[in-house]
Amino acid sequence: MIGYISKYCGFCFGVSLAVKAAYDESKYDKLYMYGEIVHNPAVIKKLIKNNVSIINGAEEILKISSPKVLIRAHGIPKFAVKLLKENNSIIIDKTCPKVKKIHNVVSKAYEENKKIIIVGNPMHPEVVGINGWCNFSATVVKNIQHANEIIGELNPQDIFCMVSQTTFNYEKYLGIYKFCIKHLKDIEFNNTICGDTSNRQKEIMRLSKKVDMIIVIGGKNSSNSAKLFEIAKENCKYAQHIETENDLCFSKFGLISAFAVCSGASTPIESVQIVIDYIKKHNKENGVQTVISRFPAQPKMR
Ligand code: SF4
Repeated sequence: MIGYISKYCGFCFGVSLAVKAAYDESKYDKLYMYGEIVHNPAVIKKLIKNNVSIINGAEEILKISSPKVLIRAHGIPKFAVKLLKENNSIIIDKTCPKVKKIHNVVSKAYEENKKIIIVGNPMHPEVVGINGWCNFSATVVKNIQHANEIIGELNPQDIFCMVSQTTFNYEKYLGIYKFCIKHLKDIEFNNTICGDTSNRQKEIMRLSKKVDMIIVIGGKNSSNSAKLFEIAKENCKYAQHIETENDLCFSKFGLISAFAVCSGASTPIESVQIVIDYIKKHNKENGVQTVISRFPAQPKMR
């Protein structure tokens, strides 16, 4: 059996910086994480053992004098940063630079009296954080059906600024923009999809067509892992979304000759290796040899 490893596995750049800071900063002092630093239960469990506590809002630590607070890659609303500063918190700001850029775009547009449209999941902390840089005035659009439902509520004479959650699918985002521009006169379109996210999605699409099973490793509450699973389900014969090796289901392994493993942006590379070793062990016990390989890169166009 051949097993391929997607070349986009392990933490993304933003998460990797935040997790490293969490370990470093909690070595000697108590550290408060503003929300779960990654949507990955295994990583969170390890950090909590390391003198790290989770808070779900700046209000929760107002009674503690000068707490050390780490802002995760998703970022937080402007008022929350202000509250932390007023409380003399020591802020370790690990908002991903790509998310910070969206905060700046939204902040500037808001000051210029533009109306903000955020395409993404309204409940996702990244979207809540972005909305917090325009005083929570944004219209959050979940998908094309939702755009259709709310378009009549927007004033076509206004000037709009559109951004998206970094993990949104680019084609779907573009589709929503194209729909909105038919109804609204002026929309400043900002491509705010993270390259890491789209690379993972493109690679999973490519792998889905070449193998019989895709295994996505990532927290069930991780939006980018869920999107990878969605693509895998739609394009591959079999797909599994697991958090750890213990969630693996081997019932279809007798029917496949090739599988591929990929991970969400909040999954450490060590977890990927553990899953691969577990599959190899299982196959060996069942008399099947497993050859693990990197999936050949896409040939370059000349
Ligand atoms: S997925 Fe992209 S935007 Fe989000 S934290 Fe990672 S690098 Fe930053």
